Amino acid sequence: MTDQITPRHPRSAASDISRRGAIALAAAGAAGMAGAGLISASGPARAAVPMQADPRPGHYRFRLGGFEITTLLDGVRVGEGPYPTFGSDQQPETVAALLEENFLPTDRFANGFTPVVVNTGSERILFDTGLGAGARGNGMGMLGAQLAAAGIDPGEIDTVVITHMHGDHIGGLMENGAPAFANARYVMGAKEYDFWTADAQKSGPTERGAAAVAASVTPLAEKTRFIAPGDAVASGIEAVEAFGHTPGHLAFHIESAGQRLMLTADTVNHFVVSMQRPDWHVVYDTDKAAAAATRKKILGMIAAERIPFAGYHMPFPALGYLDARDEGFRFTAASYQLVL
Ligand SMILES: [Zn+2]
Repeated sequence: MTDQITPRHPRSAASDISRRGAIALAAAGAAGMAGAGLISASGPARAAVPMQADPRPGHYRFRLGGFEITTLLDGVRVGEGPYPTFGSDQQPETVAALLEENFLPTDRFANGFTPVVVNTGSERILFDTGLGAGARGNGMGMLGAQLAAAGIDPGEIDTVVITHMHGDHIGGLMENGAPAFANARYVMGAKEYDFWTADAQKSGPTERGAAAVAASVTPLAEKTRFIAPGDAVASGIEAVEAFGHTPGHLAFHIESAGQRLMLTADTVNHFVVSMQRPDWHVVYDTDKAAAAATRKKILGMIAAERIPFAGYHMPFPALGYLDARDEGFRFTAASYQLVL
């Protein structure tokens, strides 16, 4: 062990001292372990120390100009994949090679769900609501608990923006049959709402989704402002067309005092597969070609303008940067850039 930390360069007085220090520390460590009964069969038995299961922090906060942004982890779903959900039009070994190249397992993956609160200084705006009570038994649907931990009362949310109407975004709108955000008004895409409430969606593959919208979204319609791309949610927050994942899917451009952030929602849903190969099909994209075109347009803008983005299914805290590379983009998770 000590050999491995011995410098290879000719010994100086300093490295001699550090080497002796390392040996002394190793000896002390061994004595300590023996004292704790860990390496000595004759040592005293100790009660097992329970492991604390959840390694994930639940919220992350930073300033963007005069705004304060908080990303909140509604939960993480671990399961099989990413193939064939991601890269469904590819050979399995092609997707596996890309994952291995990026230090990721080929048969399991973790998908996070990350609503965002923007405090503009005059109102609190929540983007998407997580999976809701139905997922709570599996450790998801935790938005309410995460808001509490972040010091935000659900009753203080002024506006709830829905980027699109999949269950992992609308699931937290209602709690026990009543609005979870009692004092909120709502902003949603008109095209998205019209799609999910049309008769054509009430049977077939969209039946469950349409039923969820009818149960959780339609009761809120009279408190909702229905918008189109280019419309403002508030001063500095504008809807951006991101159709494809769903017919009316919206991204949002957020700007305050010259600082910018793109909220991409579900434009791109795996930080390696759909990022590095934006053309590859994703099962959950309603229109696969349109979703790919939207990825290249919005991710291309983020890369070209070198601005940060928040992506709902990116690894928590779901913030990062992009640069164009090969046929796609390389994701670099935000570290300290946003909190300096
Ligand atoms: Zn989603």
